[in-house]
Amino acid sequence: MKMLKNFLESLLNLVYPPKCPFCERILDYPGTCPACDAAIPRTGDEFSLRELENGLLCAAPLRYEGTVRDALLRLKFHGRASSAVPLGAFIAQCAGEHYSGKFDVVTWTPVSRKRFKKRGYDQAELLARSACQSWNTKPVRLLWKVKDNPAQSGLETAAQRRANVQDVYKAAPEARGQRILLIDDICTTGSTLASCARTLFDAGAASVLCASVASTGKSVEFGKE
Ligand SMILES: [Zn+2]
Repeated sequence: MKMLKNFLESLLNLVYPPKCPFCERILDYPGTCPACDAAIPRTGDEFSLRELENGLLCAAPLRYEGTVRDALLRLKFHGRASSAVPLGAFIAQCAGEHYSGKFDVVTWTPVSRKRFKKRGYDQAELLARSACQSWNTKPVRLLWKVKDNPAQSGLETAAQRRANVQDVYKAAPEARGQRILLIDDICTTGSTLASCARTLFDAGAASVLCASVASTGKSVEFGKE
């Protein structure tokens, strides 16, 4: 089975060779090219951990701008699902640094069934799968998006975004008593993560920590949202 998997992987790599998620240069390994690795905007030690509402923490290694923004838009809206592998590795590293030993289960902020059908995949789930590979585990679905609300990106104010994600998610009973790492692609105002975390706490989660690939530059500072 392992051989078959490797064979399929090599075959897929011939058709879809791994590309650097930031500059789209073809690589002979799934990852980030050295030039982008040196140049991409990082949040840095000081701002890689951000406090969202009610003390909820979000770890994010990169700033949501320039080539990072382009890479995430390709992942989300232009079918570039394969870039979840290198992008998820950034989450694994950052979450590992901040949260080592503090979570037992990994889950993600899901898209609705309708959006999943249209897109063919859930980008946050793929990121969670990639991050989990670094920890030799698999993510567990603990949330469902039960209301197909308008995209957060179309809303202007933090209050509009917060209202837009109310009662949108439902949690699995398995969330009870768990220390959960919740993964998303981007953290802007943090309202999607906060809404998912609230839903998990309502279901009895012991703790929730968040991690995303990127965070908006404006709000990486503590308490500035
Ligand atoms: Zn590159």
